[in-house]
Amino acid sequence: MSDLTDRVRGPLAPSTASQWPLNVDDVEIQGGPFGRWQQINREASIPLGLEQMEKSGAAPNLRLAAGESGGAFKGYRFQDSDLYKQLEAVAWEHCRLPGDGYRAFIEESAALLARAQRPDGYLNSHYQVVKQDKIFAELEYSHEMYCAGHLIQAAVAAARAGCGEDLLAVARRFADLLVQRFLTDGDDGIDGHAEVETALVELYRLTGERSYLELAGKLVDNRGRGLIASTGMGPLYAQDHLPVREAGTAVGHAVRQLYLEAGVVDVAVETGDTTLLDSSIRRWEDLVATKTSITGGHGSRHDGEAFGERYELPPDRAYNESCAAIASIHWNWRLLLATGHGRYADLIERTLYNAFAASTSADGIRFFYVNPLQRRADLFEDAYLGRRREWFACACCPPNIMRLVSSLGHYVATTDDEGVSVHQYVPGVIRAGDVTLEVETDYPWDGRVRFTVRSAPGGEWTLKLRVPAWSASGQEAPDGYARIRRDWQAGDTHTLDLDLTPRIVRPHRRIDALRGCAAIERGPLVYCFEQIDQDGDLEDLALVPGAAPRVVERDLPGLGRTVLIEADAVRLPPSTPQDLPYTAGEQDPAGTPATATAVPYYQWDNRDGGVMRVWMPLA
Ligand SMILES: [Zn+2]
Repeated sequence: MSDLTDRVRGPLAPSTASQWPLNVDDVEIQGGPFGRWQQINREASIPLGLEQMEKSGAAPNLRLAAGESGGAFKGYRFQDSDLYKQLEAVAWEHCRLPGDGYRAFIEESAALLARAQRPDGYLNSHYQVVKQDKIFAELEYSHEMYCAGHLIQAAVAAARAGCGEDLLAVARRFADLLVQRFLTDGDDGIDGHAEVETALVELYRLTGERSYLELAGKLVDNRGRGLIASTGMGPLYAQDHLPVREAGTAVGHAVRQLYLEAGVVDVAVETGDTTLLDSSIRRWEDLVATKTSITGGHGSRHDGEAFGERYELPPDRAYNESCAAIASIHWNWRLLLATGHGRYADLIERTLYNAFAASTSADGIRFFYVNPLQRRADLFEDAYLGRRREWFACACCPPNIMRLVSSLGHYVATTDDEGVSVHQYVPGVIRAGDVTLEVETDYPWDGRVRFTVRSAPGGEWTLKLRVPAWSASGQEAPDGYARIRRDWQAGDTHTLDLDLTPRIVRPHRRIDALRGCAAIERGPLVYCFEQIDQDGDLEDLALVPGAAPRVVERDLPGLGRTVLIEADAVRLPPSTPQDLPYTAGEQDPAGTPATATAVPYYQWDNRDGGVMRVWMPLA
């Protein structure tokens, strides 16, 4: 296979890898849920986001910093990062499918940022407008480097997508200032919110300027040494409790931990530091086994938006921030490229189709910040947990969702010395160097995936296809991939069949909050039960163990195409009010036969907004 690193148009371009990523525009997604998400992202979410850049204060704040307008600063100290993520989304969208206005938005934003930027390279509208005397003086919560990281990622995207070098010039001036202060001049400050590490490595990959990598490495190694001042949240909150190489489990603010891990893998890969890489893999194994929701979501606690203890996975209070799902996908993608192991692609799939996809409404104009696995009637409409919203005062999630959807093509397939590896099954075309593959599938509704080689170089090469761990044959492929090696000719085909029989899934016995419950999965989809699909109160239903669920295809208003699952259940008599919800003696009375109907979790909250639960009690 040809080496694509010299012309990568995607978020990640490692200089060494087990698997080489493709360009965002090398994969044309032509349908299925991924295709639908890209369509609504382009037609609804991104236009909404562009509108919000003015309304939310992100762009006006920068005009204030540039001295071009009056008024007050609006929003949080990290408000600039919303614009940066929006810029990155637009850049990848331009790369995928150039459209009117994308280049202009990037060029106009770059010009505004250049005018707001101080001569020394510093750029943060909050600190320039509101707190000039505190610049770099309160890094524990300032988000100055966090914002710089998002600026750098946007600039790398714009440069790689071929829509503007001006943004890159702004980002480099700021990065050079960070290098001067925090590397050359020896300041040991670290941002309380990791993010700049992974961005600096990518800037190094783009420019070849090694000091960016060196600063990223220093920031990774200095965390956990008590260099971050107290925020009142404790050292775990910002992963400052133990040096990264020694930390054995994910702790604290989930998004911070997961962005940090992306940076840890990036630094490890570029410096050949296997100890550092192994430490990240160790935490991954612990995290997956003990702190991951069935949807792939991360973060069990509202307090501090944080990871909980091992097996602390409450369905109703699950935080599972949309940004944590995105950060997890970023981390897993880096581990996949570094190691070639399919378990990371498996978790990407689980997270994409469930924790991540649920974050956006079917029409693309409302978003969840928090993605619980249960919603009681009490929270309907009013509470923060309630329904998806058009925007948030703290709007970290919506533009983050948009930048991932725009770049989804990057995460589908890779190349290596053997040939082409396909990690996610989407209908469309994959162009991997000299190979062009056509993929026909109705996945995840149907398990058949048909590959047709449209062009190929002469000679033998291997088509590697991920066999998900959830599938019947998932245990047979040691690294998670089936290998088909032959002298492929144009017109040759291969068909992969994955068994999509619904699965009744039980939780680990140590997850106290889920004891006695079960969930339903089909293929990569986790299901949930919504009140609207049940006869009678959902909370009085219990699943019958051992009964085989039935699959029902539907086209539902608000959801579009879906596959429902009907499961045998019993309806328990409604509970009667009493002094305490505890009784001595016998358990629940016998119920009457009933049916419980489940819908894919990612499609929930697109209808009446009533009660929902992923985990159901077993009768
Ligand atoms: Zn967020």
